[in-house]
Amino acid sequence: MDILVCVKQVPGSSDVEVDPVTGVLKREGFSTKLNPYDLYSIEMAMSLREKYGGTVRAITMGPPQAKQALLETVWMGADGGVLLTDRAFGGADCLATSYALSQAVHKMSSYDLILCGKQTTDGDTAQVGSELSEELGIPNIGNAISIKLEREGFITVTQNLDDRIVTAEIPLPCLVCVDGDINSPRLPSYKRSKQVPQNAFTSLTLKDIEDQDKTHYGLLGSRTNVERIFPPEKNADRKTLTGTSSELATQISDILKTGKFIG
Ligand SMILES: Cc1cc2nc3c(=O)[nH]c(=O)nc-3n(C[C@H](O)[C@H](O)[C@H](O)COP(=O)(O)OP(=O)(O)OC[C@H]3O[C@@H](n4cnc5c(N)ncnc54)[C@H](O)[C@@H]3O)c2cc1C
Repeated sequence: MDILVCVKQVPGSSDVEVDPVTGVLKREGFSTKLNPYDLYSIEMAMSLREKYGGTVRAITMGPPQAKQALLETVWMGADGGVLLTDRAFGGADCLATSYALSQAVHKMSSYDLILCGKQTTDGDTAQVGSELSEELGIPNIGNAISIKLEREGFITVTQNLDDRIVTAEIPLPCLVCVDGDINSPRLPSYKRSKQVPQNAFTSLTLKDIEDQDKTHYGLLGSRTNVERIFPPEKNADRKTLTGTSSELATQISDILKTGKFIG
């Protein structure tokens, strides 16, 4: 089974800065890490390769430093990776990110399965996976806790939908968003870090992909943009409510109505 794993490099700490003009997170020069949710999808890809054979390749869209995220994926066992990087992709929202990734996937050799993490720890929209599958015209399923190959051309996916567990059969190729905390991601291997083959990575820029219209990517290609990122105001106001549960419910709804939190 040939698997592509989408991974993202995210800020390494909450010490982040936002470009006051574009509202976009500054990434260059700030500590970074591999998106924690992607560790579970990478581990899922490794165990599928161990069971069914095939290849595991990672793909990331980001600034040149995002290559580090691909390196860590190869140290965990991936066969190689593709870095999609170009100033034109900067400031992308989910739609522009998914579209750019889909253009890169079209450039890569065939695949059977695309794995994405549940969400990222910075944008945290949990939208890219399903939007990427839409751009590629393949089915997708989320909250996956296990994947099995039980019938030629199909995978059987078990989903955790919080109030119930559902099992579904999906035709390949398809995209699966892997739930968090479903396995114990293996540690990057020091030995592998010393043996990464030169040709393990490919870089793709705007001139390497089919659609080279800059207005489809980055800030220009985004339908949403982050107006302002700011820490929520903390205030120390306290009000102790007393009464029976229905009296408390009335008092709380009055406070919410006064605050225009509810209509
Ligand atoms: C604070 C903040 C708020 C934002 N709010 C919005 C918003 O409301 N709407 C909007 O459209 N954009 C928003 N963005 C921009 C959005 O973060 C970027 O478009 C980002 O590249 C993708 O979204 P995400 O981080 O939410 O990914 P998610 O959809 O949470 O990521 C899910 C999975 O998709 C894959 N993936 C995500 N990004 C990449 C990548 N660059 N390369 C490879 N695989 C990837 C990974 O497998 C990841 O686990 C926001 C950004 C920030 C920093």
